[in-house]
Amino acid sequence: MTRSVLVTGGNRGIGLATARAFAAQGDRVAVTHRGSGAPDGLFGVECDVTDSAAVDAAFAAVEAEQGPVEVLVSNAGATDDTLLLRMSEEQFTRTVDVNLTAAYRVSKRAAGKMLRARKGRIVLVSSVVALTGSVGQTNYAAAKAGLIGFGRSLARELGSRGITVNVVLPGFVTTDMTAALPEAHVATVKGQVALQRLASPEEVAAAVTFLASDAASYVTGAVLPVDGGLGMGH
Ligand code: NDP
Repeated sequence: MTRSVLVTGGNRGIGLATARAFAAQGDRVAVTHRGSGAPDGLFGVECDVTDSAAVDAAFAAVEAEQGPVEVLVSNAGATDDTLLLRMSEEQFTRTVDVNLTAAYRVSKRAAGKMLRARKGRIVLVSSVVALTGSVGQTNYAAAKAGLIGFGRSLARELGSRGITVNVVLPGFVTTDMTAALPEAHVATVKGQVALQRLASPEEVAAAVTFLASDAASYVTGAVLPVDGGLGMGH
């Protein structure tokens, strides 16, 4: 069945792989971007997810193009790493805004229409560091951990209407985000991953499309690690 899908930050990285995976299934897929334009074959809307008015306008454009959003993937995110004693309050709150408050914005905007339709899927892209913690990432890990409490609460709020909300925890994935890390750090991480390698964006996309599929109709409030065995036990 063709559905209306929206992936935030779907212009590159994990979001783009996810958008392409939905499109390959025949869904109508929209992605947000911040000026890069839409990748081929996808409907693009310009949107900074830290701006409520921009989020509202993006949803309106997507609804006009492909109907109300039936599958929302809140994927846009960003890091701004440094040790706590060097971290400014602005660095902390900005990172929480883009990784956590943005999920509130887009989920709220999507949920009204999903409630009326009595169906819908929301997938929140968190991170393995939500559970393991990570040096230099107090801001990012706090935001990503917040997504778990947010998502589980929302799963309880929306469950009676047949809407599921789930959280994916990627480990280290080969995207621009990890390309910025020092090589020695990546080598150390690989040593801690049971599968001894980084993930491809497509491997995370597969988990997201599963959670949005009919096969996952009884899965909600779940926290699914896709981390090659990095966070086992957490
Ligand atoms: P990338 O850095 O490759 O891409 C980030 C995406 O988020 C881009 O599409 C970017 O848009 C978008 N974005 C960032 N800030 C904003 C904003 N304010 N408004 C709208 N869009 C924004 O990241 P990944 O693909 O690696 O990460 C995707 C998600 O997965 C993120 O939530 C990240 O935290 C999470 N994750 C990634 C891991 C990894 O190892 N790569 C591991 C665990 C989690 P633009 O192109 O306009 O900048």
